[in-house]
Amino acid sequence: MFGGGINDIFEAFFGGGSSFGGGQRASGPARGPDLESTAQVAFETAVFGGTTSATVTTYVVCEKCEASGCQKGSHASTCGECRGSGQVRRTRQSFINMVTVVACPTCNGQGRRIEHPCEVCAGDGRRKDQRTFEVGIPAGVDDGTTLRLSGLGAVGLRGGPSGDLYVHLQVVPHDEFLRDGLDLVHPLHISFAQAALGMNLDIATLDGEEKVEIGAGTQTGKVMRFRGKGVPRVQGRGRGDLRVHVIVETPEDLTPEQADLLRKFAELRGEIVAPADAGLLSRIKSAFR
Ligand SMILES: [Zn+2]
Ligand SMILES: [Zn+2]
Repeated sequence: MFGGGINDIFEAFFGGGSSFGGGQRASGPARGPDLESTAQVAFETAVFGGTTSATVTTYVVCEKCEASGCQKGSHASTCGECRGSGQVRRTRQSFINMVTVVACPTCNGQGRRIEHPCEVCAGDGRRKDQRTFEVGIPAGVDDGTTLRLSGLGAVGLRGGPSGDLYVHLQVVPHDEFLRDGLDLVHPLHISFAQAALGMNLDIATLDGEEKVEIGAGTQTGKVMRFRGKGVPRVQGRGRGDLRVHVIVETPEDLTPEQADLLRKFAELRGEIVAPADAGLLSRIKSAFR
């Protein structure tokens, strides 16, 4: 595992001025390409922060030639055509004499020629390899966030500096909680009897147990809000809320005894309900008796 380079992690949110593709510096060996990778992040890690790992196929420095691209004991020589500048002039005559400066075709703009290339990297000074980086996850990141790991991209040819690594985060969904911006949403399923009579219960939140009081006569859609128990603001202060959304469940698996009790209950309240033998199954049964 390799660490570091995550200090400017927040330039990740695109529009922050960083651009893909890197590019050639004014002088010296060209910078290596930027790379992209995807990393899975546990739901709790996205909320509270932590680490994950990202694996990427990249270019690393060739240990054999230590990035020079030359066989041991040999050196790159100055290119004869451009005399080391990496550039040659081309003169084109039209209405006026146009002088164009282009990259030297003999040395590909490198200014140097390698007579005896390294056996391992064939003169590139780098080789392909797979690397796994430990990635620091700031608290509050959401699914789809991209982090920029400065200098953890591929190294350039023959000692060129490294590009950046962009890590796209995939937050693994949670069974009990959903994200709604900075709020956490927890659906709480309660029975018809619990909704009608009320109850007290403990629910497991990401911050530990929390007491919930269901008042008598609670309806589906009631929302209980726990201030500051939601998702922290990335690079900011404060947290969102935890919202517990009540869903009253209609029982679908009544025993005959429970059904009789509910019928008596309906009778007491003067409510019209289907008679005991009106179920589809019993009607089919009676039709074929
Ligand atoms: Zn090499
Ligand atoms: Zn040249």
